[in-house]
Amino acid sequence: MDVSSPERAARMGRRRWLRWAVGAGVAALLLLAGAVGWWLRPLPAPPSCEPGPVDPERLKAHVRALSETFHPRDFRHPENLERVAAYISEHLARAGGRVESQPYRVGGTRYRNVIAHFGPETAERVVIGAHYDTAGPFPGADDNASGVAGLLELATLLGQQPPPMRVELVAFTLEEPPYFRSEHMGSRVHAKSLREAGVKVRAMLSLETIGFFTDAPESQHYPLDALRWRYPTTGHFIAVAGRLGDEGLVRQVATAMRGGSTLPVEFLNAPADIEGIDFSDHASYWAEGYRAALVTDTAFFRNPRYHEATDTWDTLDYGRMAQVVQGVQCAARELTRP
Ligand SMILES: [Zn+2]
Repeated sequence: MDVSSPERAARMGRRRWLRWAVGAGVAALLLLAGAVGWWLRPLPAPPSCEPGPVDPERLKAHVRALSETFHPRDFRHPENLERVAAYISEHLARAGGRVESQPYRVGGTRYRNVIAHFGPETAERVVIGAHYDTAGPFPGADDNASGVAGLLELATLLGQQPPPMRVELVAFTLEEPPYFRSEHMGSRVHAKSLREAGVKVRAMLSLETIGFFTDAPESQHYPLDALRWRYPTTGHFIAVAGRLGDEGLVRQVATAMRGGSTLPVEFLNAPADIEGIDFSDHASYWAEGYRAALVTDTAFFRNPRYHEATDTWDTLDYGRMAQVVQGVQCAARELTRP
């Protein structure tokens, strides 16, 4: 009947719309499932790597020197920061590095990065760094005497087996507040100097809090609760983290680290504004247009002593820290492959 046809047309129109909506919903779900599956896909088998041995006692000695002898080493104590810089320079040179200083001024006070080159002076380079200052007048054993100790032992290994391209190890000053995320961070000064000189950086790794491990249940926390489904709830692993878009780098580093370490190695790429993802010197290299990633025990997501007077040398696990350094050594080998 003619009277009902507008109604029927409307009904059919609604049905068509419903079919379209269901179809689009299913397609979106499939796409999402595909993306999550791709994001969570397992790492390939690690390339073979026989890392040189790392002595836990040497790591401990460095952490004690930084956190006890040159204490406090926050921005208010430039004289102690200078003593640390001298200690780091001496050890980098002893390892066979060509050492230079990168001084700069903030508000009339002189601070400096310490840089050591290993391998041939190729135009392209790999940068591995760790900050040596602390937040406030705290010992900063995990944050970040651990990263510096790792850097110094990595220097010894690079000195013994020089890489096929230039590797720059950098000890950064002023990572912590009040200069955190500012242009006064030592890492930002370094990254900016490379960008301005037109230097090609294949990759940058930041060693940040790499010494605290625990087998206590429920000891590992995350910026998002949902991550507990995918990652361990025990703080017994080392993590490689980066922003979205640097999946290739993060996966390459994590894979290589698994080849050189008995420690579980987890990896994560996430938006840079998720808490913790940009919390170290690697973000300075992002700001200057370079690929960079973070190697970390996850800091305050695990270590209750983070930025406290209790972040002392005797709370770290030097055996597992040595495994981290061996892993980073294998990652450096992969990153410097011709
Ligand atoms: Zn730190």
